[in-house]
Amino acid sequence: MMRINEISAVVEGGGRISAEDARALWLHASDDELKRLAGMVRARYHAPDRATYMVMRIINYTNVCVAQCDYCAFYVLPNQAGGYVLTREDVFAKIDELLVAGGDLVGFNGGFNPKLPLHYYCDLFAAVRDRYGDAVEFYALTIAEFMFLADRAGLSYADTAARLREAGVHWVTGGGSEILTEDFRKRHAKFKYTVEEYLKAQRAVVDAGLRTTATMVIGFDETLDERLEHLQRTRDLQDGCLADGLQGIFSFLPWSYKPWGTALGGNEVSPREYWRHVALSRIFLDNIKHVRTSVLTLNEDAFRALEFGADDFDLPLEDEVTQKAGATIDLDFERLLAVPRAMGFQVEYRHAERPPALAPA
Ligand code: SF4
Repeated sequence: MMRINEISAVVEGGGRISAEDARALWLHASDDELKRLAGMVRARYHAPDRATYMVMRIINYTNVCVAQCDYCAFYVLPNQAGGYVLTREDVFAKIDELLVAGGDLVGFNGGFNPKLPLHYYCDLFAAVRDRYGDAVEFYALTIAEFMFLADRAGLSYADTAARLREAGVHWVTGGGSEILTEDFRKRHAKFKYTVEEYLKAQRAVVDAGLRTTATMVIGFDETLDERLEHLQRTRDLQDGCLADGLQGIFSFLPWSYKPWGTALGGNEVSPREYWRHVALSRIFLDNIKHVRTSVLTLNEDAFRALEFGADDFDLPLEDEVTQKAGATIDLDFERLLAVPRAMGFQVEYRHAERPPALAPA
């Protein structure tokens, strides 16, 4: 208890905790103490009774993938039955539905499809920007897909980011990071990337003037050490960006692994474990403005995380990747929004930020 008191005093004084402090909090702090400390860090950035949200749709433009992650229920291998690539008309129809539903954020997310070259993506993103202008913002790719594209194109990360930027891309998100330790990658996703490369690619995206986010997925077989390493690497990356005068990571979104239909299998973490993880992330990632909670994977249970330090969430229309693994989507947004309101939060719609004026390439 003595140790928890000391750590709490550091947070109360506006200080930063170490990974060892985070371990002690995880193992020994009560839910109420985690909530209290996470609330303090949240209050450095946001009014305590306010939360923001977006209505968004993930467009899974292809399910063909060569990465073969064992926690994925979404992909098919090239030339296997059931593989698809969406046409531009399919993509536009999905965006039109999103606009009708009151949303304005699209996340493009697909597999590592070796048949799609860089110009497929650039043409698609340019067409979306051309058709919708600023009425829709889009997360063009995850860092993981970005790395695959760069590799296939034989281009540096800087050149790939520049090409995407010219095509009207503003955001490449930190999706596909799951757990950022080399051991985890070797156990479950050995063809995807190395952590060192991932962080290099994300920094190149930031250097190119694009916006990015960070994510994390809990509930595989990762150890506490691995969770802490992921948080530490994320905080270090952001420290480096801020030290160089860059905006860096806009938000951190932890979500929970859905095991159905995957080779890995397993069970889901409890909502309480998720809420505690959100709180620990909020306390540890003191240099990232937004910590988000995952309605996509936790439904109504996600809103309790607003009391554990989260300040922002998505209301999703679709995401085939998590839906195939067991996620269920509720499209009654007013009913969903009534939950945080009943908890005492004012909820406001947030439009995706545009990057500041981009420097010449
Ligand atoms: S998680 Fe992504 S990269 Fe991994 S197999 Fe599934 S689609 Fe491919």
